[in-house]
Amino acid sequence: MEMDYENRIVAPEYTPEDGDSELSLRPKTLKEYIGQQKAKENLKVFIEAARQRGESLDHVLLYGPPGLGKTTLAGVISNEMGVNIRVTSGPAIEKPGDLAALLTNLSPGDILFIDEIHRLQRSVEEVLYPAMEDYALDIIIGKGPSARSIRLDLPKFTLIGATTRAGQLSAPLRDRFGVILRLELYSCEELCSIIMRSSGILGIACKEEGAFELARRARGTPRVANRLLKRVRDFAQVEGDGIITAKIADNALDRLEIDLLGLDAVDRRMLETIIRSYAGGPVGLETLAAAIGEEAITIEDVYEPYLMQLGFLSRTPRGRCITPAGCAHLKLEMPGQPGSEQITF
Ligand code: ADP
Repeated sequence: MEMDYENRIVAPEYTPEDGDSELSLRPKTLKEYIGQQKAKENLKVFIEAARQRGESLDHVLLYGPPGLGKTTLAGVISNEMGVNIRVTSGPAIEKPGDLAALLTNLSPGDILFIDEIHRLQRSVEEVLYPAMEDYALDIIIGKGPSARSIRLDLPKFTLIGATTRAGQLSAPLRDRFGVILRLELYSCEELCSIIMRSSGILGIACKEEGAFELARRARGTPRVANRLLKRVRDFAQVEGDGIITAKIADNALDRLEIDLLGLDAVDRRMLETIIRSYAGGPVGLETLAAAIGEEAITIEDVYEPYLMQLGFLSRTPRGRCITPAGCAHLKLEMPGQPGSEQITF
């Protein structure tokens, strides 16, 4: 079932297929970074203020679904602040010593970016508390009764944490971030601009109307938008004259089984299961996960945000429910309110 998910063209997480071009496509400045107006405006003020005072930026927590530009934004911040950035992730830091090594190698003002920060081990997280609060590292030397603790000063650095699930962060860690920014799914217009920008960088001929067809199926996610662009380029090259028009985009995405709103077979199976096996819901997350052979976490982080934004799915205290709009999109009847039960005289 892992495989199933990894092979999805519309998966918002990084896959090897995205390749090195992810790097070249990453905006470097706030100006180039499209969308996320609210987060950007706040950041602009914080960056400007820190620079005027000649201080390091407060610690920043970025949260939101995968593929929305958290890593990119961390890079933008380092660029705007004119400081270095070290990139790592929660699962990559195995021991407290690994984190200590990262921290002691930073220069004043540097940024340490920890992706998937909710996956840090407890023992590692505890090293972060004094580091974030007092710029200090407590080290235990020796063992047993002769062990003693010494405190090392760290340079004033900025921690940028990224997570898909702010709710899973422990309170002491969350409280140590001065700035908490939530990234939102992108609008179709914003995704259109991202696609036009990417096609320029990659040298792909893409008409505005073609970009629009891709944008509206990109699930509010820049990473998906860029991936669709690269896939559809192949169709344009082989079956057209190399230019992505609305028609070429439309045909290609149909062939890839991505529907008009960007739903693929897995989304449709999930919605159909709620309708057919659970009378439209409510159905508990774990039950639903088992029924469609996916992990509950994947459903929550990856499928649901977009389906809820479309208004196809709702979360209730008793579980997930399909909405009339969701049924209409699948061309299925809303369970429990069948038109067929009309009494005829
Ligand atoms: P995350 O860290 O949230 O999973 P990334 O920062 O890796 O997402 O972004 C994925 C890709 O999407 C990047 O390679 C970048 O090209 C593109 N991207 C993300 N946000 C933007 C944006 N605001 N403007 C343009 N491109 C973006």
